[in-house]
Amino acid sequence: MVDSRRHVPRTDVVLADPRLAAATEREGRAAVKAAVVATLQRVRAGALKPDEVVDAALAALPGGLRPVLNATGVVLHTNLGRAALSPAAREAVTAAAGHTDVELDLVTGRRAKRGRTALAALQRAVPAAGDVHVVNNGAAALVLAATALAGGGREIIVSRGEMVEIGDGFRLPDLLESTGARLREVGTTNRTSLDDYERAIGPSTGFVLKVHPSNFVVRGFTSAVPIAALAGVGPPVVSDIGSGLLAPDPLLPGEPDAATTLADGADLVIASGDKLLGGPQAGLLLGAAPLINQLRRHPLARALRVDKLTLAALQATLTGPSTPTWDALRVSPSSLYERSARVLALLSAADISVELVESDAVVGGGGAPEVTLPSWSLSLPSAYAAPLRAAPTPVVGRVDRGRLLLDLRCVPPEADRVVADMVIAVSSRVD
Ligand SMILES: *Cc1c(COP(=O)(O)O)cnc(C)c1O
Repeated sequence: MVDSRRHVPRTDVVLADPRLAAATEREGRAAVKAAVVATLQRVRAGALKPDEVVDAALAALPGGLRPVLNATGVVLHTNLGRAALSPAAREAVTAAAGHTDVELDLVTGRRAKRGRTALAALQRAVPAAGDVHVVNNGAAALVLAATALAGGGREIIVSRGEMVEIGDGFRLPDLLESTGARLREVGTTNRTSLDDYERAIGPSTGFVLKVHPSNFVVRGFTSAVPIAALAGVGPPVVSDIGSGLLAPDPLLPGEPDAATTLADGADLVIASGDKLLGGPQAGLLLGAAPLINQLRRHPLARALRVDKLTLAALQATLTGPSTPTWDALRVSPSSLYERSARVLALLSAADISVELVESDAVVGGGGAPEVTLPSWSLSLPSAYAAPLRAAPTPVVGRVDRGRLLLDLRCVPPEADRVVADMVIAVSSRVD
């Protein structure tokens, strides 16, 4: 704790700081003053140093969501909004922000199927799907499937090894039971056999659920039943693949994909739009046409429907060029080294002592927990972490063993210079 209570700056002096001028213009003087007053309170309480007031007041402003540079080396960072949209998807969102033909056929002037072009693009991307539907997120897709196919107390058969917590305390079993379906757990944590499933199937079975344990691995004496073996057993097989990979990719060989899962015999595949697809938050449902139709017509579908902005971004993601997610996954260590070295030169020229170190990046978003992507990072004293988060363009790095690592993998190359500028801008406030 810092004893700075005797050096609390005056409110009007803080308000005159040029760094607060832009905020005052944007959000009004009353909001900025309220933030400054509240921040000075924290200085009096000894929780903040006097020279941190302006940054803290800026951070405390209600404002909107702020763009940040993701220098964490975590490609799909949940706290940073998972996938960054491609330029094409951003343009599509802006174009759809006004009135748009989301449910109107401009040729005939008649009502048309909502989001038809995005749905068609998804189906073209996965020809093995008889039909497709899109809802708000992966969890919503699971709720819709559970309600429509196993609501009213019917059973969902699921392996004990696949009862996953997806993060922030949310557990798939709780989510599924919240629909009124009953879970019928089979097998054990490490081993489940076809026989386990077969013995559980009965007249009250709604469907068999396979969940990809996307955020952990179980090793050793294990066995799970592949989709292909479950496909012929009787009830519909629903597969929650998690990540939204539509077709196999050699970069992530362990990651299940929608096309292969359907080809293996799954009746319904569920995935997220903002993980490895690199698109907007969405829940993708792909499968047999009658099943998708049943889901689409269920009353709950209306409560889970996606808005026009999501549909616009999804379509552009599916039809456009590579996404920032895949650019970040595929960028080579040598080009990362070169970009980092250029930033290092800029920092060194400003007398900032910084090193270039080898580091590991990860896929993130609860996906591919075993995969590490060899990277390079700029290594700075960890005292840079907080001021960089509060910088005009916030830069979020990763603190590792007392150092702040800035990995440019998920930073758009044209923003490398901004990273350097922000480090230089805050350096005078770091000892
Ligand atoms: C991420 C994930 C979910 C949840 O999807 P959201 O789009 O975040 O709602 C469900 N199941 C699995 C296996 C996941 O990896």
